[in-house]
Amino acid sequence: MPQLPSSIDVLVVGAGPAGSSAAFWSARTGRSVVLADAAVFPRDKTCGDGLTPRAIAELDDLGLGDWVRSRSVSRGIRAVGFGREALIPWPERHWPAMGSVVPRTELDARLRDHAAEAGAISVDGVRAVSVVQAGNAVTAVEFDTPEGRRTVRCRSLIVADGVRSPLGKMLGRQWHRVTAFGVSGRAYIESDLATDDWITFDLEPRDPAGNVLRGYGWMFPTGDSGLVNLGVFLIATKKHPVGASLRPIVANYAEHNRDRWKLRGTLQHQASALLPMGGAVSGIAGGNWLIVGDAAGLVNPLNGEGIDYALETGRLGAEQLSADDLSESWPALLRQRYGGAYSLARRVAPRVYSPRVLRAAAPRVFASPALADRAFRVMGNFVEPSDRDRTARTWRALGALSARVDRQPLFEPMS
Ligand SMILES: Cc1cc2nc3c(=O)[nH]c(=O)nc-3n(C[C@H](O)[C@H](O)[C@H](O)COP(=O)(O)OP(=O)(O)OC[C@H]3O[C@@H](n4cnc5c(N)ncnc54)[C@H](O)[C@@H]3O)c2cc1C
Repeated sequence: MPQLPSSIDVLVVGAGPAGSSAAFWSARTGRSVVLADAAVFPRDKTCGDGLTPRAIAELDDLGLGDWVRSRSVSRGIRAVGFGREALIPWPERHWPAMGSVVPRTELDARLRDHAAEAGAISVDGVRAVSVVQAGNAVTAVEFDTPEGRRTVRCRSLIVADGVRSPLGKMLGRQWHRVTAFGVSGRAYIESDLATDDWITFDLEPRDPAGNVLRGYGWMFPTGDSGLVNLGVFLIATKKHPVGASLRPIVANYAEHNRDRWKLRGTLQHQASALLPMGGAVSGIAGGNWLIVGDAAGLVNPLNGEGIDYALETGRLGAEQLSADDLSESWPALLRQRYGGAYSLARRVAPRVYSPRVLRAAAPRVFASPALADRAFRVMGNFVEPSDRDRTARTWRALGALSARVDRQPLFEPMS
C-alpha cells in the first residue's frame, strides 16, 4: 500500500476522471506526483456512466482506447418523446464516431491505476482537511489518514475533488447557482436490452402525478453486465429549484419503461446528486494551484455530461504546471476554451427543456435527420473553433455575445 510522502512536486487531490487524468499527464512530464483520494477504490460515483466521443478521444490519448472499446460501444443516441423517436449517430468530426457506457466503479479504478502505471503514487483512504498557504500559493496540504494527520508539501496542487469541492472551498472557490445547474438521479436495473448499442434520451420524463418535467430521462445500456443505468436529469436555478425528491421520479421513470426496456427486478444503487454546470464558479486558481473537473463547474448545461471535460481539464491543467502564476491564466484558458458554448448553453438550457418548447419543436426536429443532427451537435458541444459551417459560426457568434453580456461571469478569478 503506497503511503503519502512528506514532499512532492505535484499533489493531485481527488481521483475521479479529472484527478487521474491530471496525475497521468503530470507524471508524464517527469515530475513526482501524488494522487490522493478520500475514498477507498474501487468506489462508486453517482453518474449515468455515459462516455461521449469527446471522452473517448481523451481515453484514446491516455492509451485506454482498446480498453474502453472492449467494455461497450454506442453508435449514437436514440431520442424519444412526444410520440416520436429518432436515431442520431455520433458526429464524425474531430472525435471518434463512437461513445461507450462504463460503470464508474470500473472506469475510475482503471483511470486511477493507469495514472499509477505512469508513475503517480496513488494513495486512497486519505482526506484533505486543510491547506497551508503562503500568499496566493499553497505550500502544503494536510490529510486525515488511517495513521493520523499527515502533511504533504507540494510545488503545485491540482484540486479535483468533485461537485462539493471541500478543498476548493478552503481555497476560496465558490459555486454561483444563479445560472442553470443540474439535479440528477440514477439507478441500475437488470434488462434484456443491456447490450443495445444506442444510448437513449427520453425528452418527456414525468413525475409520479404525470406532469412532464424540465429535463430528460436516460437509459444507458452497460453491455455484458446485463444492467442498464437509468436516470433523470432536471434543470434548476436558484429561482426555479426542482423542489421534488428524485427517488420517486426515477422509480416512476423505471416503471414507465419496464415493458419497453424489458427491465427485471428492482432498482439497485439508487442515488442522486447536484451538477455544477457551465463554469458558474469563481476562485478556481492561485499562484501554484488550479481546480479541474466538476469542482470548476465543467459540466455541459445542455446535457449534464462532465466526464469528458474532467478528462480534458485534467490534461490541460497538467500542461500549465510550469506557469509562473496560475491565478489569472487558468480561468482565462477555460474561458477561452469553453466560455462561449457554456455561457450560451446555460442561458438556453432552461428554455430548451421547457415541456412547452419541446412539445412544439421535437416532432419537427425528429422528422428531419439534418435538423436532428444539428440540434444534437450543439447540445453535445460538438463544435470546434476550426469548424467553418453555418451552424458552427452561428453557435460561436451567439456564444461570444452571451459571454459578453453575462451577469454571472464564467470562471471568475479570485476577487
Ligand atoms: C446522476 C448523474 C449522472 C451523470 N451522468 C453523466 C454521464 O452519463 N456522462 C458524463 O459525462 N457525466 C455525467 N455526470 C457528471 C459526471 O459524473 C461528473 O462530471 C464527473 O464525475 C466529474 O469528475 P471529477 O473527477 O471532476 O469528480 P468526481 O468524479 O466526483 O471525483 C472527485 C473525487 O474527489 C474525492 N474527494 C472529495 N473530497 C476529497 C477530499 N477532501 N480529500 C480527498 N479526496 C476527496 C472523491 O472521493 C472523488 O473520488 C453525471 C452526474 C450525475 C450526478
